[in-house]
Amino acid sequence: MRLSRYLLPILKENPREAEIVSHRLMLRAGMIKQQAAGSFTLLPLGLRVLDKINHIIREEQNRAGAIEILMPTIQSADLWRESGRYDDYGKEMLRMQDRHERDMLFGPTNEEMVTDIFRSFVRSYKDLPLNLYHIQWKFRDEVRPRFGVMRSREFLMKDAYSFDLDYDGAKAAYNRMFVSYLRTFERVGLQAIPMRADTGPIGGDLSHEFIILAETGESEVFCHRNYFDLQVPGADTNFSDDSHISEIVDAWTKPYAATDEMHDERAWGEIAATDRVAARGIEVGHIFHFGTKYSEAMNASVTGPDGKEHFVSMGSYGIGPTRLMAAIIEASHDENGIIWPGAVAPFDAVLINMKPGDEKCDRVAGRLEQDLTAAGCDVLHDDTDQRAGAKFATADLIGVPWQVIVGPRGVGAGEAEIKNRASGERIAVPIADVAARLGSAP
Ligand code: ATP
Ligand code: MG
Repeated sequence: MRLSRYLLPILKENPREAEIVSHRLMLRAGMIKQQAAGSFTLLPLGLRVLDKINHIIREEQNRAGAIEILMPTIQSADLWRESGRYDDYGKEMLRMQDRHERDMLFGPTNEEMVTDIFRSFVRSYKDLPLNLYHIQWKFRDEVRPRFGVMRSREFLMKDAYSFDLDYDGAKAAYNRMFVSYLRTFERVGLQAIPMRADTGPIGGDLSHEFIILAETGESEVFCHRNYFDLQVPGADTNFSDDSHISEIVDAWTKPYAATDEMHDERAWGEIAATDRVAARGIEVGHIFHFGTKYSEAMNASVTGPDGKEHFVSMGSYGIGPTRLMAAIIEASHDENGIIWPGAVAPFDAVLINMKPGDEKCDRVAGRLEQDLTAAGCDVLHDDTDQRAGAKFATADLIGVPWQVIVGPRGVGAGEAEIKNRASGERIAVPIADVAARLGSAP
């Protein structure tokens, strides 16, 4: 990709409306544009990051046995009347009418709709367990949308919904999502801690929020230091082995961890002061078990092995991919800009031509762009006529893991310079070796 043909509206000044670093950096790096209170366009660079995050979420949902669908954003109020939530949900729900004056709403979540899908097609316990998810826009008319995509009104959510014959099955489904979340957050470069959480208006008795620690977090959280040493289960984790998955969940729920709503001063007091971590946190994921709350209200049942009808036991599991973009930046940046973890970086490398118009530099940069692309390295080629200093500043700001610098002096010596964004380390490399080096770089 040539920068001269791209849309990367970098801001030099700090935007005044941005209160936290991720919002500031997303605006400055040309990732998002605000369209209304709490509503944002994802510009090309932002969309690339979001796509990478979604790809990882999908892989881990699928690995854990969930199946992707796509439900509409606009829902019929009648479904929500069945569960009783049409009246309960309050002002956060955006309500509207179609031309026939039928009540509609922009979905803030999808428990009712997915329960309707389930009851339309599934009749027998033999078709369980079932877990359906989608990645779809939600609208919640938040009282105070703020911090950019961190708390917006229109935001993307991955929401999964599990259906099981009984509590034991539902608990196993809950555990699979729990472990899937551990893997997802690690793969996007975050250390997320599962904390006991309040179940809120959705109801139920088993719930965890996945929290990353950050000074700008909106919740007050408390956890044991041991969490930082726990090993996240590998890609070879066997999700069909319920007892193995349950052991992982046990290990990750044993040390103390709770958000302020669930905080237990007595249990906290029993932890050695040096092991206590009281901090601010950002909720990046939330999982609930809520049993038969919706299946009873909406008559979603299956025939069990006993030949009787059973209301299915359900859970729901959310991750906010747009909030995650901001959370990753909160966790990974420096005074010069964003530092993307490799797995979610918008590009793998920025190729900086320091002297466009110079015949040799242009030729070498052009060839490097081709070679890097062929080696599987996704490269943004800065072929613009900006000053070298401005190009370096842009490359640092957008936080791509590697920079490849082509200048007249290096080209004369047959070399390009490679800079690692995270460590700042720079080395000179023969031009012919650049593609092989970065093509295989993590
Ligand atoms: P919060 O407590 O932050 O308002 P919530 O508990 O209402 O969030 P859930 O219903 O649990 O949110 O939604 C699942 C996930 O969706 C959250 O963990 C978060 O990652 C994301 N999310 C929720 N609300 C927003 C929002 N306003 N903007 C961006 N992401 C959001
Ligand atoms: Mg929540």
